Amino acid sequence: MIILILNSGSSSVKYQLWDTGGDGMLAKGLVSRIGIDNPLLTHTARGKKYEFSPGGIIDHNTAVKLALDALVHPEHGVIESVEQIEAVGHRVVHGGEEFSGSALITDEVIAAIERCIPLAPLHNPPNLMGIKACLKLMPGVPQVAVFDTAFHQTMEPHAYMYALPYELYEKYKIRRYGFHGTSHYYVAHQAAEMVGKPIEELRIITAHLGNGASMTAVKFGKSVDTSMGFTPLEGLVMGTRTGDMDPAIVMFVMKELGLSPDEANNYFNKKCGLLGLSGRSNDLRDVLEGAENGDPRCQLALDVYSYRIKKYIGAYAAAMGGVDVLVFTAGVGENSPYIRQRSTEGLGFLGIKIDPAKNEQAVGIKMDISAPDATVRTLVIPTNEELVIATETERLVKQ
Ligand code: AMP
Repeated sequence: MIILILNSGSSSVKYQLWDTGGDGMLAKGLVSRIGIDNPLLTHTARGKKYEFSPGGIIDHNTAVKLALDALVHPEHGVIESVEQIEAVGHRVVHGGEEFSGSALITDEVIAAIERCIPLAPLHNPPNLMGIKACLKLMPGVPQVAVFDTAFHQTMEPHAYMYALPYELYEKYKIRRYGFHGTSHYYVAHQAAEMVGKPIEELRIITAHLGNGASMTAVKFGKSVDTSMGFTPLEGLVMGTRTGDMDPAIVMFVMKELGLSPDEANNYFNKKCGLLGLSGRSNDLRDVLEGAENGDPRCQLALDVYSYRIKKYIGAYAAAMGGVDVLVFTAGVGENSPYIRQRSTEGLGFLGIKIDPAKNEQAVGIKMDISAPDATVRTLVIPTNEELVIATETERLVKQ
């Protein structure tokens, strides 16, 4: 099945075209600077990159149209006509409590995604713009929404409730939702395959360490706890997000720096994490380089980052009554032997022990990096959220 996958953000639309029956991904691209000046399309097919600047200011509708034009372009295209696209799969950030799985898009599904806008005011509106653009440009082509939150809907109240007055949950739906669900789902299933056991028999901890980062406890195939919360701000130290901290710091910083609620939201999401601690960069590679050159703040950032991961491993082992598999994925998880080593050192008491040589070797590849005497299998698995979206889209369309 030929499937278009769309990830529509506020100022960009990422797309991939997949042939699920044959070659997998056929082409991918990004339309950036939507709603700003100088929009740019970057399209990659058959290993070749093509760039196009349409000029002016474009909206999401035009951005999707540009992507479709690139896909059918006589030189850079991979299909002859848009009619060959049989379905569209959309990444949608927040499905709230409305969605515990992917959904075929209908008017009712659109209305439910709209009801979740207060929970993700920056993400759901552009996601909906992408959906509406496709409905207009490809009428009659089935579309599917795959939610970042859906996999975590199996969490029980003791894991998802905050100790706030209950009315806040009833009135505003304040609870833990969790994100990166598609990635945690994918790597947990891949992990079960790698260790050759049914997922229903495994207690898996998945660590998605990208610029945004989260960990999940996947017990017998179900997410039972996850580190991101009501928003993606909670949990691990990230590129620019604080992760866990005393909530009283928020009021203190607002008062001292004179920040409005919106400014504070921006501050804790964009100025903290690795960037804030190191004072250098949100990119782990730069922080690693700084630490190697003796910068103590970069070293401190790495120490705090790794220690937080280790604490969550302990917490999730406790939450599941043990752990069988630990998985590292996403930019940092797939590529940084240093972080994998630092965040697992001293965890031999849990049975987690990695082989130093294998750990060094596992860069951007699927690999078991456990030491021979480890009782927990530690795996590096490249994530593939687009593959899940393509598979889910095909499954729902064929139902
Ligand atoms: P993602 O959000 O999954 O694309 O991950 C992006 C992050 O992965 C970047 O900000 C880097 O910090 C990190 N990253 C990518 N490649 C490497 C690498 N070779 N070594 C360490 N970190 C890396």
